[in-house]
Amino acid sequence: MNPFSFVRANSPKAAIDAVSKGDNSRFIAGGTNLLDLMKNGVMQPEKLVDINNLPLKDIQLSKDKLHIGALALNSTVAADNQVKAQFPLLSQALLAGASQQLRNMATVGGNMMQRTRCSYFYDTAMPCNKRQPGSGCGAIGGVNRMHAIFGASDKCIAVHPSDMCVALVALDATVLVTGPKGERKIPFADFHRLPGDTPEKDNNLGKGELITAVEIPNNPYTKNIYYLKVRDRASYAFALVSVAAALELDGNVIKSARLAMGGVAHKPWRLAAAEQSLIGKTATEENFRVAATVAMENAKAYEHNSFKLQLAPNSIVTALLKATSV
Ligand SMILES: Cc1cc2nc3c(=O)[nH]c(=O)nc-3n(C[C@H](O)[C@H](O)[C@H](O)COP(=O)(O)OP(=O)(O)OC[C@H]3O[C@@H](n4cnc5c(N)ncnc54)[C@H](O)[C@@H]3O)c2cc1C
Repeated sequence: MNPFSFVRANSPKAAIDAVSKGDNSRFIAGGTNLLDLMKNGVMQPEKLVDINNLPLKDIQLSKDKLHIGALALNSTVAADNQVKAQFPLLSQALLAGASQQLRNMATVGGNMMQRTRCSYFYDTAMPCNKRQPGSGCGAIGGVNRMHAIFGASDKCIAVHPSDMCVALVALDATVLVTGPKGERKIPFADFHRLPGDTPEKDNNLGKGELITAVEIPNNPYTKNIYYLKVRDRASYAFALVSVAAALELDGNVIKSARLAMGGVAHKPWRLAAAEQSLIGKTATEENFRVAATVAMENAKAYEHNSFKLQLAPNSIVTALLKATSV
């Protein structure tokens, strides 16, 4: 582990100033991802700016949206009564992630910023364009069972590992950010990036920018929802494929739908065309299967992950069936 300095910030401005000074400074929240990366030599910040004293832990429901501070803990958000009642998809997705101990430390902002779990990214003896731009991609010709089937590039086929983010992209969340140039809002779908030629950039957060909150507009998805996570073991494993599904039903007719997948792309993967294909249809397995087929257009597998070409559509159908069987 490299030597680093440590400062504790007491205001967002102090945090932004402190992190903007060095070339290689980082905010630290729960530390559950950043410290592992530092111990493995994958990331080597020269300064850590502890943001845990900032007043960013609030969860507030107003008449048009839910506001969640960036330092709200994953466990607190999942257990919040308003979240469970009005945004149960988010609660389910959070509870599918990590373990209770980790969720007790992990923050909303940190979860969004967590880095891929691609084993070539973690193994500093292997090439990885994300860790070291220009070094190559070990996964493309290597063991790529966990890797992307959508939106990958010839530089990187890693996937984003978050569960929470899959629900947030499905629910049309917005990311609130403050930084050296002031405040801005980023639609959740535009927050994370596809790898393209710059896989070292996971997201569109600028230098020195701090996530302050996430907001979710109120929605009708309180009943017919399901977060399905398919993984190698029942706990403590990242998704091979996950699906966030939410339906607004009028009797058995679908008024609106939200669908997103995790474990399949460099960013949480919204399935807009599949959502559209469901509107006005009856909630039947046959129609869910059509939507799943639409969702899989442009999917591309690598040597060891072609099973995802079947697992992903089957998971979409299962998640939709679960969402309608409540
Ligand atoms: C064994 C294990 C299993 C796990 N399983 C899962 C799983 O199944 N599903 C899942 O979704 N996650 C899983 N995780 C990941 C876990 O959810 C993340 O490590 C956690 O959410 C990160 O939050 P943190 O507050 O600890 O972030 P930190 O480790 O403190 O920070 C992570 C990154 O976020 C940046 N950051 C933090 N807060 C902000 C902010 N407000 N603004 C800007 N940048 C910020 C930091 O600079 C750093 O780069 C697992 C982790 C472990 C160790």
